[in-house]
Amino acid sequence: MSITPLMPVYPRCGFRPVRGEGAWLISEDGSRALDFAAGIAVNLLGHGHPHLTKAIQDQAATLMHVSNLYGSPQGEAFAQRLVDTTFADTVFFTNSGAEAVECSIKTARAYHQSQGSDRYEIITFKNAFHGRTMATISASNQEKMHKGFLPLLEGFKYVDFDDLEGAKAAIGPKTAAFLVEPIQGEGGVRPASDAFMKGLRALADEHGLMLILDEVQCGVARSGTLYCYEQYGIEPDIMATAKGLGGGFPVGACLATEEAARGMVVGTHGSTYGGNPFAMAACQAVWDVVANDEFLAQVRATGDKLRAALEQFIGNYPDLFTGVRGKGLMLGVTMTHETRAFVAHLRDNHGLLTVAAGDNTFRVLPPLNIDDSHISIFMEKLSAGAASYKMPEAA
Ligand SMILES: *Cc1c(COP(=O)(O)O)cnc(C)c1O
Repeated sequence: MSITPLMPVYPRCGFRPVRGEGAWLISEDGSRALDFAAGIAVNLLGHGHPHLTKAIQDQAATLMHVSNLYGSPQGEAFAQRLVDTTFADTVFFTNSGAEAVECSIKTARAYHQSQGSDRYEIITFKNAFHGRTMATISASNQEKMHKGFLPLLEGFKYVDFDDLEGAKAAIGPKTAAFLVEPIQGEGGVRPASDAFMKGLRALADEHGLMLILDEVQCGVARSGTLYCYEQYGIEPDIMATAKGLGGGFPVGACLATEEAARGMVVGTHGSTYGGNPFAMAACQAVWDVVANDEFLAQVRATGDKLRAALEQFIGNYPDLFTGVRGKGLMLGVTMTHETRAFVAHLRDNHGLLTVAAGDNTFRVLPPLNIDDSHISIFMEKLSAGAASYKMPEAA
């Protein structure tokens, strides 16, 4: 047999972490890496955070899981906290980002169809990433995710990202919703413009469509506000959140207004694990730390410092780097060529973890509670990495 016990769908590298300490990961062979990938925007309190760790330990000893057939004091309490701190009136808990987007899509369709309308089509944006289920790959135009899995789910129309006129032109009699990442993550840390986000909100209002935001990557304080939509001065009807939500515990949520959720009545949706007491304890602990003005101001200040350091640095290597973009501590550095080899070089030769993304960008996604000392070490490692990097021959 030549297949590996782990289904070989990931190009796994030689770095094999077995322990984490704050912003550091320690591998099987004892080597240490500065983790400015944070599990792809998940470990927002770093590794082994005492408050999160204790909450999970205590809850494991108290009650891990019960069925959603029973009343959920833990789910109600955290849903209330989300309702108090966001646009939403109601919340469905999931175990992942893709499931949170699935629930968002179902909520938008049910909004229309529960009122006897046959609208089902969702307008999405090119180079988006919404997850790996059949519905969420269908929601993205990226053919590399479709190949081998056809037929796709029907009912998605792809328009250029940040193209308001294109979005407007795509609206038809069957259109139910827009689905958009305020900052495209996998697509290359591309923030939507103010005019685009405000424009989508206005178009949705004008045509009776749902505005669904996918804040799976940019949400939970990552962009410098609790959710990124706040910075655009708009509110969605439906929003998917996950990644940072449990700080490493697998949990997501679909948030909606009362109006948007009118089709989601008893028996229409479900999840065995969704929102179990274990997950809720992790979420509460994360929220204890991040959902306050002081922490959010700190994320913005740290983001500004990191961005300024990066902007100054890339000027030394105009043949390698072309710019810095993003918001808060969701930053992307654009390069003159594909970034995978550079990301591998930083990891293998300089003990620095970042994440490659589309559009010749690599992502800088540190834990949100880093301090100046981590920024200094990051910049030292990045400088050493750039100095020793041999650009791949042009293909
Ligand atoms: C990661 C991601 C998802 C999918 O989340 P999973 O937990 O991997 O299912 C969806 N949308 C965006 C924007 C993401 O970054």
